[in-house]
Formats: sequence, C-alpha cells, structure tokens
Amino acid sequence: LDAPLFADVGGDAAVSFEFFPPKNEAAEASMWEAVKTLEPLGPRFASVTYGAGGTTRDRTHGTVARIAAETGIPAAAHLTCVEAARDDVLAVADGFWQAGVRRIVALRGDPPVLGQQFQPHPQGFRGAAELVEALAKLHPFDISVAAYPEQHPESPDLAADLDNLKRKLDAGATRALCQFFFSPEVFFRFRDAAAAAGITAEIVPGILPVSNFAQTRKFATACGTGIPPWMARLFDGLDDHPAARQLIAATIAAELCRKLYAGGVRAFHFYTLNRAELSYAICHLLGLRPKAAAQAAAA
Ligand code: FAD
Repeated sequence: LDAPLFADVGGDAAVSFEFFPPKNEAAEASMWEAVKTLEPLGPRFASVTYGAGGTTRDRTHGTVARIAAETGIPAAAHLTCVEAARDDVLAVADGFWQAGVRRIVALRGDPPVLGQQFQPHPQGFRGAAELVEALAKLHPFDISVAAYPEQHPESPDLAADLDNLKRKLDAGATRALCQFFFSPEVFFRFRDAAAAAGITAEIVPGILPVSNFAQTRKFATACGTGIPPWMARLFDGLDDHPAARQLIAATIAAELCRKLYAGGVRAFHFYTLNRAELSYAICHLLGLRPKAAAQAAAA
C-alpha cells in the first residue's frame, strides 16, 4: 500500500550474483548457462564460494578463473581461513590474483563439525578481520566481507557483531554482503544500527530466491536467519507443484526487493544457487535490462 508496485524502480541498482563451484560436468554446464544468462545484465561482480577448510580450493579457483577469462563480468573469489595456515590461505589468494581475479569475499568459515566452537589453526588467522588485513597488504584487492542482519549465531549481541564488522571494514574491506533474510524490517533495523555504530561502508542485502523451502529452512536454522510463519504457510501444500513453487519464490523475493528499493537500497547480492531464472526475473522487475540491448537502443 505504501509503495507503488514497481512503478518507481529505475534500473539503477547494482547487482552481484553468487555461485558455488560445480561438482561434475553436468553441474558445470548448468552453472555456466546461468552465468551466461545473467551476464548481459551487467552485474558488478559474480562470486564463487569456497568450502571452509579448503574443500573446494581447486574447483573454486577453476570456476572463478574461468569467469575472469571468459566473461565480461568482474570475478570475485570467496576465501575462508578456518582450518588453514596463514601462508596457505595467502598462497590461494595470490593464485586468484595471478588468474586475473581482483575481488575477494573474505570470510572466516565455519568449523568442520556443525555447532563446534571455532578454534584458530595454530598458524592461522583468528577471524575474517585478520584475513582482510593480510589480503589488503598482499595485493590491492577489492574486498567484501560478511554481515549478519539477524546477528551471527556465535556473537553475544548485535553490538559485538557490529564491532566485528567495523573491524573488518577498517582493516581494508569496501563493503559488507549480508546473510539472507526474509523481512525488509530486519535489514532496515540493521542498516540503522550499523550507521549508529559509525559504519559508513555500503551494506548490501543478500537475496535468496527460495525454490526449495525445506532446504532453506535447514540453512536458515544453521545460520540464524528467521523464517517468518507466513513463509511456511505460503509453501505449504506445494510439494508436488514445482511451477507454483517457483512463482511463489519469485513473488516473495520480488516483494522483498521492491520494499528494499523503496527504502533506498540500490545494491543487491543474489544467492543464485547456480540457477538464473529467479534472479533474472527479479533483476528485470528492478528495471535491469540486458546491456547490449540497451546500448543498441541508445545508438
Ligand atoms: P568473522 O567476521 O571472523 O566473525 C565470526 C564470529 O566471531 C562473529 O560472531 C563475530 O562477531 C565473532 N568475532 C570475530 N572476531 C571476534 C573477536 N575478536 N572478539 C569477539 N568476537 C569475535 N562460508 C564458507 O565456508 N564459504 C563461503 O564461500 C562463504 N560465503 C559467505 C558469503 C556471505 C555473503 C556470507 C554472509 C557468509 C558466507 N559464509 C561462507 C559463511 C561464513 O563463513 C560463516 O558465517 C562464518 O561462521 C563466519 O564468517 P565471518 O567471515 O563472518 O567471520
């Protein structure tokens, strides 16, 4: 009621897309198709996740290097430092730089056993802030870090979490990419709290278009994201209706982005899960159009 239905979107949003390194050839082909579908939208960057402890080290490198070499999208590599010595982590980062990757999403990563407390590796970084500091000295990377609108599960309170975020930004990161969430108010409260804590860097909402509700509920529990009761109700009874599920997923994510946009947000990070359709549709609603078509129309 309070914001016009997509009438005010101006195609001025900066978007980024997150992928995970595919496990086999079929998955690689389908991920690549998603990258190619999203490329014409002119994303600010496409990022590739990195398994904590280096479990996807080679696959992340291969995927991000291919994006850097074969697309016009600036490539960003995620990098975690849990369960690894500093030198090894920095060697991986240097490998990214040598492959033409200029952006890093710098993370601590989770301990290998769910719920286990984080213990730094004896020669390792004690958290993402230390990793950012070392990366900034290694090469002039553009560095993003993680932020948690609903607070990181290990953090005693929001103030401590914001202190940690500020340390990461002060150490050399340019922006914060948020964990996914489902209520715009959650993001606006966090943005206000960050501003009150003296954080001036860009805070980018993380958008997860949900097509598999059961899986999302599991992810959300592990990372402290609240699932609003209305969302469970919307997916109820759709187990055998994949097309309807997709439409519901698009509607929820579109409505979230519309409200964020109305609240002044102009950058969005999409968790694509290696699929293009939902992210593409939401970007379209936000007014983004393929760059080549726009350039041809202007010419
Ligand atoms: P940190 O910023 O180091 O903080 C972790 C926790 O420790 C926070 O609660 C913080 O407040 C607390 N803390 C840190 N330092 C101190 C201190 N000195 N004193 C007190 N408390 C402190 N995981 C992967 O494995 N691979 C990925 O590719 C990946 N990509 C991600 C992308 C995004 C956008 C996001 C939001 C998360 C991603 N994650 C990924 C998950 C991330 O690794 C986990 O959430 C992890 O538990 C925390 O990582 P961090 O970088 O936020 O850690």
